[in-house]
Amino acid sequence: MLRKTIQTRMLVALFVVTTFASAPLSGLGQKASPVAPTKAQVEAVVREAYDKFRSDTSGKNADYIPFLAQVDSKMFGVAVVSTDNQVFSIGEINYAFSIQSISKVYTLALAMEELGADRVFERIGSEPTGRAFNSVNGVVEMPTHTGNPLVNAGAIATTSLIAGKDANEKWNKILNFYSRAAGEKLTLIDEVYKSEAATNAGNKALAMLLAKYERIYADPFESVDIYTKQCSVGVNVIQLARMGATLANNGKNPVSGEQIIKPEHVPYILSTMTMAGLYDGSGGWAWKVGLPAKSGVGGGIVAIVPGKGAIAVFSPRLDDAGNSVKAQKVIEYVVNKLDFNVFSPRSVGLKGE
Ligand code: GLU
Repeated sequence: MLRKTIQTRMLVALFVVTTFASAPLSGLGQKASPVAPTKAQVEAVVREAYDKFRSDTSGKNADYIPFLAQVDSKMFGVAVVSTDNQVFSIGEINYAFSIQSISKVYTLALAMEELGADRVFERIGSEPTGRAFNSVNGVVEMPTHTGNPLVNAGAIATTSLIAGKDANEKWNKILNFYSRAAGEKLTLIDEVYKSEAATNAGNKALAMLLAKYERIYADPFESVDIYTKQCSVGVNVIQLARMGATLANNGKNPVSGEQIIKPEHVPYILSTMTMAGLYDGSGGWAWKVGLPAKSGVGGGIVAIVPGKGAIAVFSPRLDDAGNSVKAQKVIEYVVNKLDFNVFSPRSVGLKGE
């Protein structure tokens, strides 16, 4: 009897999946996911979140990079890009803010393309640090010293893995890779780069400390300089969401169709983002939101919904951990309303009886 019920349920489930899979492409990433919400649902929820948090003024701009302190803290934009390249955006969508730490995700992806995932794991590791993103103590105390590719020390070491005959060739390779992930040409914001390069003694100290432990793989100062450039790349919120959608789409850019990242690397990248994407706010984020994401002190956060798409939010005011306050609130709201939390069985359509 029980077996029969299970068999019937499996047949029904199969029928539902097949029916949805062949339905018109009206949902978010419908092609890749049978349980994607419709475009109209996504738009309504994103709009609701935008209105709800629009006048929230908590947090403050990063000021340890002087340029970032000057950025208009009222700017606020949200974009969703699905794996089948449907785009929905609202608010400030044209301003190119600096990608900052979100760049670390894509340099990690490039390093894996060049060296393979195992060698990157050996050289960098992937352990949460539980410390501030630029912690010196972390380098001294963590057994791997580098921690993971998403804190500054591990990120500078990851940048040092990128091969090239000189610094320029390495930098151009990185910029070109980001552009391919975004599906359009990205550029350096020179003023951000200059402002950050003039004030990055802390990152230089991290690089020298890594050299002491033999955990940096090119000239330490050259690596910091390339890293500073990668953090100063400008993206608008749609470009950032598209970079995220490339990860959601198993490494293939949903606009160009180009396979930028090997599919087998995607789970390593997303798991690293889940453990360390919001620095020492990552545990709380996994608890409340349950999606791989990455923040940057420029005010951007991108969250990935595997197989469905990505949501990016830009709002410069940050919390104490360095994560945009409004971006966190918007994403948490949208994810909970649309059942995107990957740790919840509801994300694959199990709603209970
Ligand atoms: N460029 C910044 C730094 O190295 C990135 C930090 C961040 O976005 O969290 O401090």
